[in-house]
Amino acid sequence: MSDHKRLTTASGRPYTENENSKTAGPRGPILLEDYILHEKMAHFNRERIPERVVHAKGSGAFGTFTVTNDISQYTRAKVFSKVGKKTRVFARFSTVGGERGSADTERDPRGFAVKFYTEDGNWDLVGNNTPVFFVKDPKKFGDFIHTQKRDPFTNMKSPTMMWDFWSLNPESLHQVMILMSDRGTPYGHRHMNGYGSHTFSMLNAKNERVYVKYHFKTAQGIKNFTDEEAAQMKSKDMDFSQRDLIEHIENGDFPKWNLKIQVMSMEQSKKVDFNPFDLTKVWPHGDFPLIDVGVMELNENADNYFQDVEQSAFAPAHVVDGLGYSPDKMLQGRLLSYPDAHRYRLGTNYEQIPVNRCPYAVNNYQRDGSMRIDGNQGRKPNYFPNSFDDMEIDQSYNEPSDELDSNIADWYDRNSKMGGDDHYSQPGKLYREVMDDEAKTNLVNNTVGAMSGVEGPKKEEIINRQLCHWFRADEELGRRIAEGLNVNLDKVMQAMHEHHA
Ligand code: NDP
Repeated sequence: MSDHKRLTTASGRPYTENENSKTAGPRGPILLEDYILHEKMAHFNRERIPERVVHAKGSGAFGTFTVTNDISQYTRAKVFSKVGKKTRVFARFSTVGGERGSADTERDPRGFAVKFYTEDGNWDLVGNNTPVFFVKDPKKFGDFIHTQKRDPFTNMKSPTMMWDFWSLNPESLHQVMILMSDRGTPYGHRHMNGYGSHTFSMLNAKNERVYVKYHFKTAQGIKNFTDEEAAQMKSKDMDFSQRDLIEHIENGDFPKWNLKIQVMSMEQSKKVDFNPFDLTKVWPHGDFPLIDVGVMELNENADNYFQDVEQSAFAPAHVVDGLGYSPDKMLQGRLLSYPDAHRYRLGTNYEQIPVNRCPYAVNNYQRDGSMRIDGNQGRKPNYFPNSFDDMEIDQSYNEPSDELDSNIADWYDRNSKMGGDDHYSQPGKLYREVMDDEAKTNLVNNTVGAMSGVEGPKKEEIINRQLCHWFRADEELGRRIAEGLNVNLDKVMQAMHEHHA
């Protein structure tokens, strides 16, 4: 019999009995020495790794990114070095709040993460299908996510927690509006856009920096479920998005996205009338037009879901030469928290797992740690500097220094004038100028449906506070939602005035 067909233990010993345990007599108890039984049961008990606290339910695939337009005036990143250049990628899409077995069609933002295996290291663009987010300071992230998860007492999802938090944090309104719109229930992963969401930066060959926003536009066209369709699909197929993605790729119908950027010069960033590093705001297309960059095609399913999709780990900290960060506070928080989450979930050597491993040379003095499996750099010295190896620091990768706005450190109010205190203009514009009548009506109905779940002694207070935000974005919108909820408008107006006073 060929070696690869012979059943063995994990240590390679062939074994002959895989279905019956060794017992004292045909009806007697099991012998402790049946090691194969122990190994089977013990390994099974350890099959689950901690699920992601957020983005637990996901789908992923490998593919190719191809440059279609020269952006070398903005960046020297090798991934964008010439038109036609191809780079292998791995993308993962996900819902946010649900557990690993939750339904794919829940109303929720969707994660949209792409790992580019570039020759200067892996670059991760880890965003969502929305250009903005609910909060703009990472200190608020854990509190916010708790409201999207289960109530500590009932262990159930709680619209009361969600709307309480959103109504107390007016900066969330823009993202809440997008979530309550048709885009809150995308038709699988192929028909949605992806956004880097944060402000990032790029450096060109002359070491000049610009700020950028990334947009992946779906080539399949935007397609969403209505609230009813999403609920129906939930009972019909919990794994709709997974099935849709894997089947299209398996059938050779490869999904594509066009990558575009918006660019803001350093001078412009000091003059714009909004905080360009505020994650609750977009950069208007009229002022910062989209520039073509390339196309991403997903054309290869992972052969093993756990190996590649479940163990994939993305981090916005992973940028490469020519691509950089910005003072966006949420980005700064994520630089720390994403690698930290992976070290906890997958272990300190998570970057050696094949899907996360840089396919090009990785040289450093990190050694040891749990599950170190790459040879641990063999006999090479484990300290720097040393007199034995010929490792050098390549100064050509140096970045220019950052110029700070201020040398005073303090706890600044995130919603002050400088932080960005206008929570209503951009959502108002989205409602009035971007949405058609059907989109407006769906937004109103979805919001009324979701807010109807608020309950308990604080119900009226929470609903009135949130209605004030909808009114401030757009009066007609506020009125329609209030009518849908059968709320007495006089009380809302009174609450609005009290809030202002
Ligand atoms: P534009 O008219 O140029 O842009 C409107 C954008 O809105 C388009 O990118 C469109 O995406 C997107 N859109 C359409 N319907 C929805 C929806 N239901 N939920 C979320 N986005 C939607 O105007 P501006 O750039 O001046 O932006 C106006 C408003 O549009 C903003 O205040 C913001 O709320 C929203 N928006 C702006 C984006 C930006 O980066 N400027 C990105 C996304 C939304 P598509 O072209 O893919 O259909």
